[in-house]
Amino acid sequence: MNSAAPHLAPGLRPFERGPTNPGPEAGFPVRDELLDSLAPDLAPLRDKVLAGTRLSFEDGQTLFATSDVHGLAALANYVNESLNGNRATFTFNRHLNYTNKCQYRCMFCAFRRDGDEADTVVMDMDYVREHLTANFSDGMKEVHVVGGINPDLPFDYYTELLRTIKETRPHLHVKGFTMIELNHLAEISGKPVEWVVEALREAGLDSCPGGGAEVLSPRVHRKLYNGKLPPEEWIATVKKVHRAGLHTNATMLFGHIETTDERLDHMVAIRGVQEETGGFLQFIPLVFHPENTPLQRLGKTTGLDSLRTLAVSRLMLDNVPHIKAYWIMLGLRIAQLGLLHGADDIDGTVVEEHITHDAGATTPQGLSTEELAGLIRETGRQPVLRDTLYTELQAV
Ligand code: SF4
Repeated sequence: MNSAAPHLAPGLRPFERGPTNPGPEAGFPVRDELLDSLAPDLAPLRDKVLAGTRLSFEDGQTLFATSDVHGLAALANYVNESLNGNRATFTFNRHLNYTNKCQYRCMFCAFRRDGDEADTVVMDMDYVREHLTANFSDGMKEVHVVGGINPDLPFDYYTELLRTIKETRPHLHVKGFTMIELNHLAEISGKPVEWVVEALREAGLDSCPGGGAEVLSPRVHRKLYNGKLPPEEWIATVKKVHRAGLHTNATMLFGHIETTDERLDHMVAIRGVQEETGGFLQFIPLVFHPENTPLQRLGKTTGLDSLRTLAVSRLMLDNVPHIKAYWIMLGLRIAQLGLLHGADDIDGTVVEEHITHDAGATTPQGLSTEELAGLIRETGRQPVLRDTLYTELQAV
């Protein structure tokens, strides 16, 4: 928006007008009429946004505190429409959770297993091949590959998994392995993360998802996911991945014990990384699902908090092209409304998801492209089918 372009590694797409953020299309007016009637606390922020001035941490505090939720939505909507026009994107994808055995015990996790439970999963290559043949289709654009940190799996398992996917479904974009998995692979191979990324890329890895960042707060890390990669190492790892020329997303798990200031710290940290590398394609606020986790007593956060967090994300992350309203976690109704609160993407068909459903998500396991397009169209947005890197776009 107003920041100097980062020095991009070869292979990364710059944040400028183009498929990744097309701007308003000819004839589509950015709807800013609501910006004339904002509450007094939001008026100075409107002036900054319209002038392209970066919002500060304190501005973020105002956004989280304001009672003018319509004004907040209008501001976020304005920024989104300035970047992405009237489009709302989604992809035709499916998840592959290759194992749920995990050596960590993050307190917000209902997905992990110790390994001796009847529903422990470790996919072997015959299963992966059969599964991809039977349940994936030629039109599918992406497979999203993540799993637990399974101490039984050797490094070669991961390269073999990627090769098996590419041999069976060569056209699929493989978005796989969080910064947590990449660090684990560095540990078991005894090699640097850069070497791991190169070996995985040679085997078929195309980009990485944004999970595992949780909330980039030392306090939350200590209390909820102490065994796992600390915030500064997540940041250091994602920078290495970007510098190796792979795009990633960034997530933020919210709605548990974190404060809104910690959410803002997280957003400012992501914005800082993006300033250096330009490697993030999407920011994805993930709402915490407490069922079947040790934090069950916390309950779920509200729809309004989810929409507010989407809107604040859009406004604070002025250098990240896309904000995703991930329907699996937000629920269909809130995700749909999210498209009017700064989000421009609703993820994809997904089809088979375990991480959130094990924690009590009541959303369907998958939606058809027609169902997703219908949800988008109802908001007045133009549904557009995309690939992972936004290089192929198709109005539907
Ligand atoms: S969130 Fe990931 S690393 Fe943590 S326990 Fe669950 S599967 Fe393991």
